[in-house]
Amino acid sequence: MRILVAIVVTLLFASAVSASRDGGPGVPELSRKSRSIGYPFDGRLEHGVLLRETPFVRYTPEYARDGRFYGTWELVQLLHRAAHRVATRVPGARLSVGELSKQGGGRVPGHHSHQNGRDVDIAFYMTDAAGRPFEPWAFAEFDRNGQGRGPNTMLRFDDARNWELVQRLVTDGDARIQYIFVSNALKERLLREGERRKTSPSIMNRVRRTLMQPPTGHPHGNHFHVRIYCSPANRPRCQDRPPYHAWYPGKPPVGAVVATR
Ligand SMILES: [Zn+2]
Repeated sequence: MRILVAIVVTLLFASAVSASRDGGPGVPELSRKSRSIGYPFDGRLEHGVLLRETPFVRYTPEYARDGRFYGTWELVQLLHRAAHRVATRVPGARLSVGELSKQGGGRVPGHHSHQNGRDVDIAFYMTDAAGRPFEPWAFAEFDRNGQGRGPNTMLRFDDARNWELVQRLVTDGDARIQYIFVSNALKERLLREGERRKTSPSIMNRVRRTLMQPPTGHPHGNHFHVRIYCSPANRPRCQDRPPYHAWYPGKPPVGAVVATR
């Protein structure tokens, strides 16, 4: 009976969330007034949009208390859409989100960027050793075999859901991805999953170009860090730096080198 009630409540909530006018399924109605100003490492956010929890999105508990869940609407809708897509394709898990930005942006302790609503940290989808979805309290580190590092050796990197997530992120029409930071070992693992699923070459190419281990600092073996480009409407006050991928929205700055594919 409790399960039945839970299912009914989830369906009701899901249909309310799905009722958005133009964000697509799984996307609540969002104000589009947000403005991302400056750079991710030196900027601020006007009219930041709060990412709310839904049946598909949860706050990673370690970060819930500080409430840094504000982004541009492009970023927030992206997270809702991606989480909904994963839940549709491989049901049974919610997207665990770490920090975005403060309501008005600016410096966030523990981050160099995350200042103007275009960065988000996302926990990997993971399962327990029996393959059941596991919702973590904090980010967990995984090795190249997809096994959790101590003290989380019972956890497994969820290839199917993480692949669905990445694929959805890189193909969004409103929010264009500049980077998804993740360790090289896990990038290789994800690409193998994409090949196994016979993903189209154009999507594989996007994933290959956007997933990267940062050249210095944290290798990102325990979460994805996603950065989106400025939307054309926010420029020129919103500023990007290279690389400019072929899917850069609008016109890149004069003199910028743009990848052709
Ligand atoms: Zn981050």
